[in-house]
Amino acid sequence: MTPLVRRLCLALSALFLIAAPVRAAERAPVILISIDGFRADYAMRGLTPTLAALATEGAWAPQGMRPSFPVNTFPNHYTLVTGLRPDHHGITDNTMFDTGRPGVKFSMGARDQVEDRFWWDGGEPVWVTAERAGMKTATMFWPGSEAAVRGVRPTTWFPYQESLSAFDRVDRLLGWLDLPQAERPRFMTLYFEAVDTQGHRFGPDSPELNKALADVDAALARLVAGLKARGVYDQVNLVVVADHGLAQTSPERVVFLDDVAPADSFTVITAGWTTSLIPKTPEAAKALVGRHKHFRCWRKGSMPRRLNYGTHPRIPPIICLSEIGWVVTTRARNADRPMTRIGGSHGADPFDPAMRALFVARGPDIRAGVRLKVFDNVSVYPFVMALLGLTPQPNDGDPKATAPALK
Ligand code: AMP
Ligand code: ZN
Ligand code: ZN
Repeated sequence: MTPLVRRLCLALSALFLIAAPVRAAERAPVILISIDGFRADYAMRGLTPTLAALATEGAWAPQGMRPSFPVNTFPNHYTLVTGLRPDHHGITDNTMFDTGRPGVKFSMGARDQVEDRFWWDGGEPVWVTAERAGMKTATMFWPGSEAAVRGVRPTTWFPYQESLSAFDRVDRLLGWLDLPQAERPRFMTLYFEAVDTQGHRFGPDSPELNKALADVDAALARLVAGLKARGVYDQVNLVVVADHGLAQTSPERVVFLDDVAPADSFTVITAGWTTSLIPKTPEAAKALVGRHKHFRCWRKGSMPRRLNYGTHPRIPPIICLSEIGWVVTTRARNADRPMTRIGGSHGADPFDPAMRALFVARGPDIRAGVRLKVFDNVSVYPFVMALLGLTPQPNDGDPKATAPALK
């Protein structure tokens, strides 16, 4: 090597060493937005023009994303930010028990449990890895963000508050973008529940659901306008997802577990389209396991492989899945919470198209006009980590599923 070439090489490598961290630090922020219960095909109703524009200018999965089993809110939100199946991250359903906490019930409304890392430490969400890498993160609600997972919380987070309007949530997020560069978060979340709420109350084809679609789109429009006003619309990566879809229920489609085994021979942990049970006797277990009219039950270790579920200690011994639209419950539960009042639900087989969730992404690091084939929601995590320039934790995702959307 001549001295000149050597000098050139040294200069180049020095440049690289300096340039690499600068490039990493300059990566565009990521805003991960969840519209709870936004079924993939809702985007085609012509009621969400902002979302349509994002899809045109960015990447979109027109047929949607396949959720993970069980198709409920908490397990799937944690999957989206960890890339792990619920069986692996440990948020095995919206309601759980753990032998390490005898008699304590985890549920979405149990604030002290929701804010306790004990339940969440099985996974490492994006914001924890990002904070450890020195990035600021901020969450405008996300299941798990209220706990110090593995000892780390987002720099800014809020306890879930349903009454905070969608516009106020957007405005809080926009406020973060006005912070001095050193304090500005690089990873942010936003969460909207109205589409899921109205879907449950009135069903997927109701005017009320359509109104919620328009309202959530107006919140997205406010976000886009705020980004444009700050001159940063083309400098942030927006990733808009849902946790699951929704399908119609009917008072005529209810089946009772007590028709299969005596009501006092098992304990129901969760009921609906995915039902979990603890049998009290071997006879009860024998009666419950197997195929029944409109639903089927398995012992947790024998579930179909495609459901990726059944090994975690928090999963009750028997899991049932109903035909889409058929609610499984007990007569006592039905007297308490009559299924006739319900318009829509989720929790069905994740392979059913009605359970598929929204995926749209738009920004400087996302290819415009890309249309992704149906993919499993575990692959959102490697996509978000790539956008942030962070090394993903071990996960169940397939980076190839979302890679076509990356520049
Ligand atoms: P699901 O019925 O499984 O779709 O649950 C949806 C509900 O989860 C929404 O109506 C929200 O009220 C609730 N939810 C979402 N995020 C949180 C949170 N961080 N803490 C408590 N509840 C939440
Ligand atoms: Zn949900
Ligand atoms: Zn729901």
